[in-house]
Amino acid sequence: MSRALTISREPGGWRVPGLSNLHSHAFQRAMAGMAERRTRAADAAHDSFWTWRETMYHFAQRMTPDTLHAVAAQLYVEMLEAGYTRVCEFHYVHHRPDGGPYDDPAEMSLALLAAARETGIRLTLLPVLYMTGGFDGRALSPRQARFGHTVDAYLRLFETLRARECEDLRVGVALHSLRAVPEPAMHEVLAALPAGTPVHIHVAEQIGEVEDCLAVRGARPVRWLLDHAPVGADWTLVHATHLDADETARLARSGATVALCPTTEANLGDGLFPLRGYLDAGGHWGIGSDSHISVSPVEELRWLEYGQRLASGRRNVAAGAFDSVGHTLLAGALDGDRATGFDADDEWLLLDADAPVLTGADADDLADRWIFSGNRPLVRESRIGERQLVVDGRHLQADAIVEDYRRAMRALLGDQGG
Ligand SMILES: [Zn+2]
Repeated sequence: MSRALTISREPGGWRVPGLSNLHSHAFQRAMAGMAERRTRAADAAHDSFWTWRETMYHFAQRMTPDTLHAVAAQLYVEMLEAGYTRVCEFHYVHHRPDGGPYDDPAEMSLALLAAARETGIRLTLLPVLYMTGGFDGRALSPRQARFGHTVDAYLRLFETLRARECEDLRVGVALHSLRAVPEPAMHEVLAALPAGTPVHIHVAEQIGEVEDCLAVRGARPVRWLLDHAPVGADWTLVHATHLDADETARLARSGATVALCPTTEANLGDGLFPLRGYLDAGGHWGIGSDSHISVSPVEELRWLEYGQRLASGRRNVAAGAFDSVGHTLLAGALDGDRATGFDADDEWLLLDADAPVLTGADADDLADRWIFSGNRPLVRESRIGERQLVVDGRHLQADAIVEDYRRAMRALLGDQGG
């Protein structure tokens, strides 16, 4: 279920709902800002998602349960301080570096659970099914060995994690992408799921992926998925960047949610989602910080709108549901709650009413001012139920957690042997 956007003035500041982060690969926080150089292997014109992926594989290869735990805890602290109170963790680094399972096959997942519990953020854990290295069904490369499962082993992991569900934990399913999950495996997993299980999938992020899908499966990825899977309200399509007009309308009608990750999509040069057409068709969406080159709902929402302005030469593109762009964006992001599997309405932020940029604000323009007035963090408090997590802009465990994070980063960066 989704929450409505309510904005009210309280003695401590402006009260707004905490936001859902629909797409996270926690370990990638450790490489933020470290893939911004031209690679030796390619000239600048050829640096792309696929060369970035080489750096990402390098970090994935080096993660241990301890370093993943430390990096995720620091990331979740930063999310809570920025205004996210829920995160969907699209988790695919499951095994030892040699591809063998840990003694407890859920060990890496449990590291994420521990990080969420320590920081207090609500977690929708989405263990990822990753089986093939391309649409042609080729085997995983050695660097993808940590990600792979058979369907049986995957469903065992899913059940193990599902047994841990509680007030602050939901467990869903992630299909890595159409290129990584053969069609029979997809059907087998979907048939085994309890009703209402959240299903997330990366789709149509890259032109190359669209072309490969057309060549091998005879249709563009989103069209193929709509034709071959029961895509509906339980589904979240991550990115869905490259849509034709028919796919845009059909996807909106399906009731699925699109997880838009504007800062990562910009960073990776993915392309622009057809936002206006999708909104006009009544589509659901939310935001995710994905690779975590930014951990800020404000920046995701601002760049969601700015990308559209740059491409169209027009202003206030998202406005429609409301005249206010900010209000429309915040309400849309809250609608994205439906992707998390949580049905709660007790997550609140207090924004700093004394911040100069909020001088004279009212409930009607608060969202515009929050999103479009700069980069000074305005979240003073974050609360989930009775638990106060952020006070005066700072997470209550921030000091201890950042020490662990620094130790983990020294281990990740110092030992180049991996
Ligand atoms: Zn992703």
